[in-house]
Amino acid sequence: MDCEVLYRLRFSLKPIHHLCHTYIGGAVIGSLAAFIWYFVITRTSRNGLVRRFLIRPDSSTRSLLIDSVVSGVIGGVSHVFLDSLMHADMHPFWPFALGNSLAGLIGVGLLHILLAASGFFGLILWLLMREP
Ligand SMILES: [Zn+2]
Repeated sequence: MDCEVLYRLRFSLKPIHHLCHTYIGGAVIGSLAAFIWYFVITRTSRNGLVRRFLIRPDSSTRSLLIDSVVSGVIGGVSHVFLDSLMHADMHPFWPFALGNSLAGLIGVGLLHILLAASGFFGLILWLLMREP
């Protein structure tokens, strides 16, 4: 999603956060990432490291697809939500509404601390929920 930002920065296009940083764009990109992930994971599932760390041994291809799509959409939409707290140039609800009333709701420093903390606790939770 942030390749859009790099591209628009490179060519001095405004706003920097454009279609990829809308909830619709986030869901579409998350879905595309999910299908790419599903393709890669089903082609490499015989690899011992992939099977040990990334998928459950009893996962069916159908459950892998569902997990991938759900995770991709949540990832894409949450990216837009979290970015909308920082970037005033976004229009997350485009094409239904313009503007971003969430920008500046919390400080960037606090947001980064919360993101680091949630990443840390997410890692701990993932480690605890993994089957040996
Ligand atoms: Zn972004």
